[in-house]
Amino acid sequence: MKKEITKKEINNLKFDELENEITHLGYEKYRSKQIFEFIHKQKVDTFEAMNNIPKDIKEQLNIYFTFNTIKIYDAYKSKKDGTVKFLFQLDDKNIIESVVMKYKYGYTQCISTQVGCKMGCKFCASTKDGFIRNLSAAEMLEQVYRAENYLNMKVKNIVLMGSGEPLDNYENVINFLHLINDQRGHNTSLRNITLSTCGIVEKINELADENLPVTLSLSLHSPFDSRRQLIMPISKKYKLDDIIDSIRRYYFKTKRRVTFEYTLIKGFNDRIEDVEMLKEYTKGIDVHINIIPINPIKEYKTNIPSNEDVINFSKMLKNKGIKSTIRREMGSDISASCGQLKRSIALNK
Ligand code: SF4
Repeated sequence: MKKEITKKEINNLKFDELENEITHLGYEKYRSKQIFEFIHKQKVDTFEAMNNIPKDIKEQLNIYFTFNTIKIYDAYKSKKDGTVKFLFQLDDKNIIESVVMKYKYGYTQCISTQVGCKMGCKFCASTKDGFIRNLSAAEMLEQVYRAENYLNMKVKNIVLMGSGEPLDNYENVINFLHLINDQRGHNTSLRNITLSTCGIVEKINELADENLPVTLSLSLHSPFDSRRQLIMPISKKYKLDDIIDSIRRYYFKTKRRVTFEYTLIKGFNDRIEDVEMLKEYTKGIDVHINIIPINPIKEYKTNIPSNEDVINFSKMLKNKGIKSTIRREMGSDISASCGQLKRSIALNK
């Protein structure tokens, strides 16, 4: 009986892995560079589109490899600021989200790393239907490549801040970072990539040892364990003192400024004692706080701070010598916040 070949996903392979495969098939090394460029520079998603690869090689590639591609299920453009929200459909029909924002200095894309999320943060729509599965590196890359082709632009900055906890999908995320950074391919500087985590201590420590200078962003939201636990169940497992120790270690190893994401909830985390504790936690390291006025989601409405409340909080931080930015809301007319659009579509089905 003829043995069936398990095809490898070619767009999941790092350059050296692809080179091994291609030379193993008996072809010269330069072919791997050509194929890698087709996938990661020209962003093709079929072997047929590799127009200067000979027919016999394409036939072999079709036998041993496949593409893990994703399709644009829908795209919504904000009339207010041009932000584009994509819903992508994966091979198994799951839907994920990604958002492209246009800034003066170029395009920034927020990508998803998992379908759903286990972490259960109360203010986040992505976790409401639980965790479904991890995304592969190829599925993360595809979000960038399909958005670039659709909008005819090149993404400059990438934030791993869509649905999913990136450090809960560690291996695939690291693979993605190596692939997107490869100079023979997309060539995105790691310094232009921000990885957001809710604070998985052992993985932050592991990331610090990878020697990949990505910007680490901690979803902090409260500097007190007792309060943080009310909105982030994961903080029952990881205590803030340990998280901040790992953040310090990351900072001293990479010398990269760290960001704290801080969803501002009136009366909950905007008090003077919060600012004083933030001062303790930012001592001796370069930290920037992103203040995000809470975005109400259907399932969770709480104390929304006024513009004045937000400005006051930022002034309190400034008075303590803490740098902060108030995050401008992008794409508010297209539910651009994490998980909102996918969920509103699912609820309306
Ligand atoms: S905020 Fe991030 S970590 Fe928390 S539930 Fe949402 S996707 Fe998961």
